[in-house]
Amino acid sequence: MITPIIDETTIERLRALINGVQRIAITCHKSPDGDALGSTLALCHVLRRLGKDVVVVTPDMAPRSLEFVPGVRELVVFTKHEARARQVLNDAQVIFCLDFNSLHRIDRLGEVIKPLSTRRVLIDHHLNPEEAFDISISFPDVSSTCELVFRVLMQLGLLRLMDRYAASCLYVGLLTDTGGFAYSCDNPEFYEILSSIMRRRIDRIDLYNKAMNTFSADSLRLQGFAISEKMQLFPEQGASLITLDKQELERFNYNRGDTETLVNKPLAIPGIFWSVFMREDADRIKISCRSQGDFSVSDICARYFSGGGHENAAGGEFNGTIDEAVQVFHQVLADLFPDQQQDHQEQPSN
Ligand code: 5GP
Ligand code: MN
Repeated sequence: MITPIIDETTIERLRALINGVQRIAITCHKSPDGDALGSTLALCHVLRRLGKDVVVVTPDMAPRSLEFVPGVRELVVFTKHEARARQVLNDAQVIFCLDFNSLHRIDRLGEVIKPLSTRRVLIDHHLNPEEAFDISISFPDVSSTCELVFRVLMQLGLLRLMDRYAASCLYVGLLTDTGGFAYSCDNPEFYEILSSIMRRRIDRIDLYNKAMNTFSADSLRLQGFAISEKMQLFPEQGASLITLDKQELERFNYNRGDTETLVNKPLAIPGIFWSVFMREDADRIKISCRSQGDFSVSDICARYFSGGGHENAAGGEFNGTIDEAVQVFHQVLADLFPDQQQDHQEQPSN
């Protein structure tokens, strides 16, 4: 039995809203991941089968590693097709916002949406949602936005429209946002949802291999380099730090998505329970954090790196050089572990 966790009033409002419109836009956060793409494309597909005109608009391109997600080729990418994206959003009678909870998480697309009087529906699992939504379906305790989309469809009575294509999209988000069913999936209902998805005869092994175990040679070499040469451990604080600057990224022909799971790797080391990865981007430093247990990295990202996310998986950004970002990391160590010796660290060995 899958509990209907969304209250009936919200579901009724959503049902009335969907019934009353024809043109629907769906969007997700920038640098879309498996959950963002899986949830938007699954919802798009089901609503199309309901007879609606639906377009998914993303703030920027999907990484090459996720091109296999059914429907990715049809995305309207704001940074690539700005005029078309603006037209879709202007024409839409409702805008669904999936897998993010604050319009500033979608960059310039947020500035396009903000002034529109179009109704907005939030479906998301991040902490502390903004209040800029007409209908807000926000559950930080669920595994993924894909799980939430499944629950929304179930409560709307639309699961009959979830075919193999939509089920494959949802599977990708359930899989990737739990690190391959490793975390955030303790609720037994998660597996009932998975079971329902499996019944649509998805090609589970193919999706698993493409989503979890496909890397270019350059990406594998870059990850090997990062772990071998750039990982610093702080055993007294249970921490790991990896940084990659532009030159290092270029040396391995970096493509977006190439370092997607790198931040998780140091958590394999006994005693390391939080991991920070800093990557030099075009105009800022992108920060990724992961943790185990009740050590919250979302607080760290919110306080020190203008970001947020989940307790065990969060991110942010830093305006400045990578050296300055590393200094902030040392400040975090000093603030959180005032009794520990700050200079004790294990350098990569040669
Ligand atoms: P990742 O490390 O995979 O980029 O992100 C992990 C989690 O942190 C995601 O759920 C993502 O939504 C959140 N996150 C990543 N970057 C940012 C950011 O710059 N701001 C906020 N608020 N959340 C972020
Ligand atoms: Mn997500």
